Parts: sequence; structure tokens; C-alpha cells
Amino acid sequence: MYLVMLGPPGAGKGTQAALLARARHIPHISTGDMLRGAVSDGTDLGRAAAQYMERGDLVPDDVVIGITRDRLKASDTRRGFLLDGFPRTVSQAESLDAILAETDRALHLVLNLDVAEGELIRRLTGRRVCPKCGETYHLVFSPPRALGTCDCCGQDLVQREDDKESTVRQRLQVYQRQSKPLVEHYLQSGLLATVDGVGTVEQIHNRVLDAIT
Ligand code: ADP
Ligand code: ADP
Ligand code: ZN
Repeated sequence: MYLVMLGPPGAGKGTQAALLARARHIPHISTGDMLRGAVSDGTDLGRAAAQYMERGDLVPDDVVIGITRDRLKASDTRRGFLLDGFPRTVSQAESLDAILAETDRALHLVLNLDVAEGELIRRLTGRRVCPKCGETYHLVFSPPRALGTCDCCGQDLVQREDDKESTVRQRLQVYQRQSKPLVEHYLQSGLLATVDGVGTVEQIHNRVLDAIT
């Protein structure tokens, strides 16, 4: 299946996408993770993207569309994929259709995680991530077994620079302005499945599984 996980920052896209991708044996493709990888590797792409990410703005469409096009050419995406964090603008959505059409593919479904703003702020400001393996935690909602330490690899957890409260507010505004129109866009094309994103991770995973069957 060719799937997209849509939703505001902090809605649980990364958490749910990881579970769903594992359950369906399809690659989980996160543009946020790819961009952070490029920043920490110090590539030209990373240098171009960093300034936007630090401010909580979107990285320009041509940059993000370029890396997504390259990733979707890889053979492991032929059987299916789950995009997380892409598209984020209507123009990216149109490019995605064009990229898929080049290889006779088309999206099957767009899963839209619905979470109210107060909860998003709590989730984002409490998020902690493992800089080594990428595992995501929350100080209150899903803490690691040992305070401040990754369960999987023992690394010290960190707060993403863009999860500080002032940048979180900017990201939520950017979502409202630039990404929310995608909900209407995919509703019009009949691909949208909105899932209540409030509850336990497992409850939401089950709702997501129901939505794709
Ligand atoms: P979150 O999961 O909290 O919404 P992401 O990890 O998906 O955040 O994205 C982090 C940052 O990376 C975004 O704020 C933005 O700067 C950049 N980014 C990720 N995906 C895209 C995209 N499709 N278009 C533009 N910028 C993107
Ligand atoms: P996104 O990729 O949409 O930005 P994440 O999956 O990274 O969202 O989740 C944001 C934060 O909320 C993380 O700290 C994560 O542990 C936490 N989280 C994820 N799902 C839930 C949930 N169902 N209830 C409470 N917190 C959650
Ligand atoms: Zn780790």
C-alpha cells in the first residue's frame, strides 16, 4: 500500500508510522528524519535546510521534493511505503502525485491524525529523542525505563532544538497556514481517513489498522 501519515507537529505521526510500517512490512519514510540526518552529516543539503528547521519554518519545496523523489525511486518502495511528514504543502502533494505517476503508482490512503492544540503543545515540549537510534520518548506519556537514557541503546536522550516552546508555537502556526489546507485537498480527492489521535498509542494504532482495511 502507498500511504501518507498527515497531522500537525506532535500528533503522533512518527510513533504511529513506525508501528504501522512494521505491521505492514513497508518502509517508513520520514522527511524530518532525513533532513536531520543531512544536518548532522553536514552535507550541502543539511546546511541549506538547517536555518529553516531551527526557526520552525518549512524547508523550501524544491529541496524536500528532491529528497523524496530520490527516496521513492528506491526498489524497496515498489511494494509499498508510508510517508511521514511529507507532503506538507499542496504543491508538495501535487509533486508527489507526479512522482508516483512516473512509475505507474498512486496513493491509496492518507491517514490524518486529529489532535487538539493544547495536547500538541504538551506532547512536543515533553518529547525527548535518542540522538543515536532515533527512538522517541515523552517525559510523562512514554518515559524511558531509566530517566534520561534510551531503552534501546543506553544513549543520553536530548530535546530537539525545535521542540522548545517558542519554536513549537511557530511550527503550529506554519501548520495552520501551509499544511492544514492538505486536509481539504485530500478530502476532495476522496483519499482522506481521519483518525482520532487522542488515546493510548495502542488504541490509536488499532484505529489506524481499522482505517486501512
Ligand atoms: P514533526 O514530526 O514534529 O512534525 P518533522 O520531524 O516531521 O516534525 O519535521 C521537522 C522539521 O523538518 C519541520 O519543522 C520542517 O522544518 C522540516 N520538514 C520536514 N518535512 C518537511 C516537508 N515535507 N516540507 C518542508 N519542511 C519539512
Ligand atoms: P509527530 O511525529 O507527529 O511530531 P511523535 O510521534 O514524535 O509526533 O509524538 C510526539 C510526542 O508525543 C512524543 O514525545 C511521543 O512520545 C508522544 N506521543 C505519541 N503518541 C502519543 C499518545 N497517543 N499519547 C500521548 N503522547 C504521545
Ligand atoms: Zn537509542
